[in-house]
Amino acid sequence: MKYIGAHVSAKGGVENTPVNAHNIGATAFALFTKNQRQWKAKPLTDVNISAFKTNCKKYGYGPSQILAHDSYLINLGHPENDGLEKSRTAFIDELERCGQLGIKLLNFHPGSFLKKISEEKCIKTIAESINIALDKTKNVIAVIENTAGQGTNLGFSFEQIADIIKNIENKTRVGVCIDTCHAFSAGYDLKSRQGFKQTWLEFDEIIGFKFLRGMHLNDSKKAFASRVDRHESIGKGSLGLDVFRWIMKDPRFDNIPLILETPASDIWIEEILLLKELQ
Ligand SMILES: [Zn+2]
Ligand SMILES: [Zn+2]
Repeated sequence: MKYIGAHVSAKGGVENTPVNAHNIGATAFALFTKNQRQWKAKPLTDVNISAFKTNCKKYGYGPSQILAHDSYLINLGHPENDGLEKSRTAFIDELERCGQLGIKLLNFHPGSFLKKISEEKCIKTIAESINIALDKTKNVIAVIENTAGQGTNLGFSFEQIADIIKNIENKTRVGVCIDTCHAFSAGYDLKSRQGFKQTWLEFDEIIGFKFLRGMHLNDSKKAFASRVDRHESIGKGSLGLDVFRWIMKDPRFDNIPLILETPASDIWIEEILLLKELQ
């Protein structure tokens, strides 16, 4: 079963996300459980929580169909103590909010070394941050997203992601989300048939499909290996349509949320329909 959706708006309250997803024909969705550009958020109320759960049930969204995304401000590999502590506290809060809502998967960008520490040290710090957060929370899986490698963002290679996972104590609560735009921008050739096969072969060898808990389906505005993160609508960018056809026909991508983060939200209905038809 393919679960296909988009990162929908939580305007007016998280309880609106399943409704917004249903309205675009989605069978999966992603959301922010708080404002993604602010550190502090009001706690979720009992009303938010129960309405979210009721709406998920009403529209048929189970835990394997929902992928929460954390705040963009969080840097779990922050080179400085203040920034690191703030990030760790906020990340724990994100995991707790997911737990309250019955969400199983929290997706996040690993972290940035900000040219102040080595990549190795940053990777170790990220893993330590995840260990601390998992220790203080229950049930929710920390889902590491691959990056385009823009600036000093780490997690653009499968090896870096594998290095983080290697240092996680509780491997049942860590997963990976692969963003097609980020992978292509980072130098994984998903555009050619041979490159697609090779990329997933490497993914399985270095990380392992058992860790794959979600996908972000985005085309790219930028060229192959540009290391720049700019999403484009499906089939309209430098990646093209084939990669999405291959993913939709491949059972290795069954039963996980496949999420559009494409820029034109007014055509998500058409994009979801297109992806469904590519199966
Ligand atoms: Zn993404
Ligand atoms: Zn991106």
